[in-house]
Order: sequence, then structure tokens, then C-alpha cells
Amino acid sequence: MTHSIKARTTLNNGSEMPWLGLGVYKLANGGEVEDAIRYALDIGYRSIDTASIYENEAGVGRALRDCGIPRDEIFLTTKLWNTDQRERRQLAAFEESLDRLGLDYVDLYLVHWPVADRFQETWPLMEEIYDSGRARAIGVSNFMQDHLEKLMDDCRIVPAVNQVEFHPHLVQPELLDFCERHEIRLEAWSPLMQGEVTDEPTIVALAKKYGKSPAQVVLRWDLQHGVVTIPKSGRPERIAENAGIFDFELAAGDMTLLDGLDQGRRLGPSPWQVDF
Ligand code: NAD
Repeated sequence: MTHSIKARTTLNNGSEMPWLGLGVYKLANGGEVEDAIRYALDIGYRSIDTASIYENEAGVGRALRDCGIPRDEIFLTTKLWNTDQRERRQLAAFEESLDRLGLDYVDLYLVHWPVADRFQETWPLMEEIYDSGRARAIGVSNFMQDHLEKLMDDCRIVPAVNQVEFHPHLVQPELLDFCERHEIRLEAWSPLMQGEVTDEPTIVALAKKYGKSPAQVVLRWDLQHGVVTIPKSGRPERIAENAGIFDFELAAGDMTLLDGLDQGRRLGPSPWQVDF
């Protein structure tokens, strides 16, 4: 399934999403984000993950429009921010994202966080956006099983993706299993534990064993779990390193070893307390 940087997974609506993408959180709008995307596309990345809250959609859009690669070969994700759910600006916020991007459509539009008392009324609007053809797939982010059950209780379209914090210190096997059973593709944010993968002795030892880097071992572990992954870097050598995950395979025992590092430890906010 995952033998090249171009490999894609088929989502529950038939859309094809690359297993590997470039995350662009904290890359500054303008030169920084554009240079990172240009480099990533040059070496074969075809998926970019942004969000309106990252304040770099304009740069992302410019890089994609200017890259010379046909639009339909690139998979672009952006996200609906929490304030826009609270202020009932969901449809307007989507238009604004498209305007900033300067594009006619996005490949995936995600509800960024499960804002309590709002996400259930947001979802039909996401479905409306999907029906318009301007988001080729819709999904959610940071949804726990309980949120997904509530949403799916009364939905026309099952989310195609759930993008959550996922790394060896936060494995969430029950959520992964639930999403698999409902054909919701899990996608890992902070897959590299924001750089901490290099500090974990078990990961470092496995990297040595496979002749790979700690980041590559952990990103490969994502793929073998059937989890789409979007490591972030603005540095060419790391963007390239993070794509070097298609030429080796972790043995089952080593997958289990990595699973065993789970501590239920979050680096980001809890999906149960969305007060931002
Ligand atoms: P990450 O785990 O991808 O870590 C990125 C950091 O790790 C870099 O800043 C760098 O310091 C380091 N790094 C990168 N490559 C490395 C390598 N090869 N070796 C060692 N260190 C390396 O963390 P992230 O940026 O938080 O997450 C990735 C992407 O996920 C984001 O850019 C964003 O697109 C998305 N995200 C989504 C949400 C959400 O709520 N949906 C939240 C956070 C991030």
C-alpha cells in the first residue's frame, strides 16, 4: 500500500489522500511557508495541511498556484476555526479561506475542534459545503469517540478523516479502532512529538537498528497503523528526511514496542476542554 511518497489512501467518499503530507503550522505566511512548500513539492510531497488559524493560507495558496503542478495532483487541507463555529460564521469562514488561498476548492475541509454545543450544528453546514463541490471531502479534527458518535447520530455524510494528536506517547488504540470500523481515516498531528522523538531511547535504538532516523521510524509506524501523517518542518533537509519512510518496514515486534511507549500524554489541548 505505501511504497512511495505518492501513495494514497482512498477515503470513504472515494477521494484519494496521500499518506504523507507537509504540516505548515507556525510557518510564517510569505517566504517561509512558500519556500517549504516549493521544496516539498519538488521532492514529491503532494499534500499540504494548513488551517485558517495558522494565518498562512495566502502563502500556501500562492505556492500551490505558482508551482506548475496541476491542481488535481495536489491535496490541500484547511480547517474551520472555533470562533467561526461560536459566532455561526461557518459558511462565511469557508469562503474567506478560499479567498485567502485564491483557489476554487480544497480537497479536505476539517472542523478544527469539537466546540461543545456547536459542532453538531456545524456539521450540516460542512455537508452543505461538500454538496457545493468546493470541499472534495469533509472531516473533523480532535474528535473523541463520544464526539463522533454524537455527530454520526444525525449526519448524512460520515466524516472522511479525523485528524488527532497521535504519536508514541499518545496512541489512542480505541479511537483508532473505532475510526477504522467506521471508515474514518485517522490522521496524526504532532506525529514527531514536536521534535521529542529524538529524546526517546527506544525510538533511538530502533532508528539505529533500521539505519533510519528517529523521525523516520515513528512516521513509518504511523503508516503501518494505517494513519495518515503530516510532519512539519521548514528545513529542506528535514522535509526530505521525513519523506524517507517508504523503503523499509518495521517488524511486528517493533510496532508493538513502539505501541508500548503510550503514556496517554498530550502535548496539545484536550478535546474535552475546547475553551480557546
Ligand atoms: P510535529 O510533531 O510535526 O513536529 C514538528 C517539529 O519537529 C519541527 O518544528 C521540528 O522542530 C521537529 N522536526 C521536524 N522534522 C524533524 C526530524 N526529521 N527530526 C527531528 N525533529 C524534527 O508537530 P506539529 O507541527 O505540531 O504537527 C504537524 C502538523 O500537524 C502541523 O504543522 C499542523 O499542520 C498539524 N496540526 C494540527 C493540529 C490540529 O489541532 N488539527 C494541531 C497541531 C498540529
